[in-house]
Amino acid sequence: MNTKTIINIGELVGIVPEGVERLCGADMGSMGVLRDAWLRIEDGRIADFGKMEDIDSFASLGMTSKMSSRPSDRGPRQLQIGGVKQASGEISDTVIDAKGGMVMPAFCDSHTHLVYAGSREGEFLDKLAGLSYEEIAARGGGILNSSDLLHETSEDDLFEQSMVRVREVLAKGTAALEIKSGYGLRPDGEMKMLRVIARIRAAVPALVRATFLGAHAVGRGYTHEEYVREVIAMIPQAAELADYIDVFCDKGFFTVEDTDRILTEGARYGLRPKIHANELAVSGGVQIGVKHNALSVDHLERTTDAEIEALKGTDTMPVMLPGSSFFLGLPYGRARDFVAAGLPLALASDYNPGSSPSGDMRFVMALGCIKMKLTPAEALAAVTLNGAYAMGVSTETGSVTRGKRADLILTEPGWNLTRLAYNYTTPFIREVLF
Ligand SMILES: [Zn+2]
Repeated sequence: MNTKTIINIGELVGIVPEGVERLCGADMGSMGVLRDAWLRIEDGRIADFGKMEDIDSFASLGMTSKMSSRPSDRGPRQLQIGGVKQASGEISDTVIDAKGGMVMPAFCDSHTHLVYAGSREGEFLDKLAGLSYEEIAARGGGILNSSDLLHETSEDDLFEQSMVRVREVLAKGTAALEIKSGYGLRPDGEMKMLRVIARIRAAVPALVRATFLGAHAVGRGYTHEEYVREVIAMIPQAAELADYIDVFCDKGFFTVEDTDRILTEGARYGLRPKIHANELAVSGGVQIGVKHNALSVDHLERTTDAEIEALKGTDTMPVMLPGSSFFLGLPYGRARDFVAAGLPLALASDYNPGSSPSGDMRFVMALGCIKMKLTPAEALAAVTLNGAYAMGVSTETGSVTRGKRADLILTEPGWNLTRLAYNYTTPFIREVLF
C-alpha cells in the first residue's frame, strides 16, 4: 500500500460528508474546516483525517506513532511511519509536514475549450480597438478563425499545443477538467478534437471529460440549416468519444429549436447536455436545457427571474464563467440571486482563445468573490464540488471526503480561503497532490 500522511495542516478546508454530490443555496457556505489537522492518503484516496492533538507523537519520522481517529467508529491504532514492513504487506509511507499550510480540494473546471490551435492575439488587438465579440465574429473572425487554424494543424501538433495548457492548469491546481470540441465545425475536425481530448485523458492524472460541441458556430461553407443537419449526423460518431453534448444556444448562433433537435438526437446516443446559454442574450437556453435534463447550463451572464425559476427543483447545475465576463467586459452572472433562491452554483474558467484566455481557477474563484460577491467559502464550493458535479465526477473528487480521490492542493504556510481571493495574484501552491 502506498500512503501519504500530511501533518501540521493549518487549515483543512472543503470537508463534505460522504454522499453529498453538490451544495445548494445556503449550504454552499457549509464546507467544513478543521484547524491543526492531519490527513492520510492511501493509494491515492483520502483514507482519514483529524486533529493533530489526536496524534500522540510525530516528533521523529521513522518512529512508530500512535494515532487515534474518531473514537465513535474505530479505536486507536498504530501507524507506522517511514516505509516500515507490516504483517498486512509492504507499506510505502511518506510524511509531508504542511508547516501550517492549508490543504484544500483541487479545482474542478467544468467548462473549457482548451484544445485549440494557435492563438488569437490579433483579435485581441481588434478588441482593444473597440470591436465587440459579435462584430469580430460577424467579420469572419472569432470561432471560425480558430476553426481555420485547427484544420491546418496536425493531430499530433494539436495535442502538443493543448498539452502545454493542460500542464499549465494542472500546475495551477486543477485536478478535474472538462474539454469541449467545437473548433472543427465539420466532421473531420470535430473528431480530430475529440481524439485529442481522449489522448489528453490518457496522458494526465487529472480526471478529464469530453463534450461534443459541434454546434459552437455554423461551419464555413454550410447554410445554417445544412450545418444543424451536419451536427445531427456527427452525433453517432461523436458519442463514441464524448461524454456530453453541448450547443451554443444564443443570439446569432443556434436557436432554441435547433438546440431541441440536436439534444433530442444526442439523447438517443446517451449524451447528456451541457448548454451554452444566455451569454449574449436571454436565449431560452436555460429552459431548453432543463427540458432535456442538462447536467449543466453555462454562462448565464444575462438571466431574468424566469431562468432562476426554471432551474429550481432540477438536477441541472448553473455554471457561471466570470473569466469571460472579465475579458469581454460583459455583465457578471447574478450569483447572489441564484444562491438566495436556493440554487447550487458552479464557476468555471471557459479557457478558450477568444473570450477567456486563462484557465486559472484561483483567479475564477477570486472573481467569484470580488465581482460576484460570493463568500470565499461559497466560491470554494463553486470551483470544487459543484464544478465536479457539473462534469459528472462529484462522487469521485471535489471535496475532502473519506474514500474520494486525494486531489488536493497543499498551500504555502499562512494561507486561508479569504487570502486566496484577497491576494489574488500571489503564488500560493506548494504542491498539487493527485
Ligand atoms: Zn464556452
